[in-house]
Amino acid sequence: MISTTTLTAGVLALQGDTQEHLQVLRACGVMARPVRRASELDGLAGLTIPGGESTAMDRLIRAFELEQPLRDFIRSGKAVYGSCAGMILLADKVLDPALDGSGAPQRTLGGLDIAVRRNAFGRQRESFETAVRFTGISAPQRPVHAVFIRAPWAERVGSGVETLAEVRIEGANRAVAVRSGNLLATSFHPEATGADGVAAEPRVHELFVRMMKQEL
Ligand code: GLN
Repeated sequence: MISTTTLTAGVLALQGDTQEHLQVLRACGVMARPVRRASELDGLAGLTIPGGESTAMDRLIRAFELEQPLRDFIRSGKAVYGSCAGMILLADKVLDPALDGSGAPQRTLGGLDIAVRRNAFGRQRESFETAVRFTGISAPQRPVHAVFIRAPWAERVGSGVETLAEVRIEGANRAVAVRSGNLLATSFHPEATGADGVAAEPRVHELFVRMMKQEL
């Protein structure tokens, strides 16, 4: 049994809110470091793909020659957690991909059998905070304080994928947290910190750390 202190989580650090994830992960008792090149994936027990802008990250992943190494990491069985743009990058399908200058649709790393819609809540609200019930975290009776910023939802969830949290919008339940084996994704940002700089909601990262430890 590996002790928690020897485990290291990487946070993809090409674009987005890398620092917040590093902070919450350290507060959860693991070592955490940014990842910008393939060699920095070596020795990691897990990887977080932060929120930001999935099209920019897609471009940078290819520019930094990280596409295949990241795909290999995702398929290696090690824990990977994507929040918001990270959820989009883990999705097998984007329903409304952005097109680049040459008309090519944005790509994802894939691995998670979901189809996401980007900026899905946009018609209602660009950004909002709400309380959501979240299966599988500690004290699940206490809802998670969830911050949504131009967030996607998972519009189709494959049969092998578990929905951990949903938000009800215009009469439909939309999946905003999903898990399939070693892969975890949330539409929202539990890494967002309170005014005191302390993570308002560490329980999603705690779940990810338990997945890193192969406890569940
Ligand atoms: N809308 C962004 C995208 O398409 C995601 C927003 C976020 O990560 N906060 O990548």
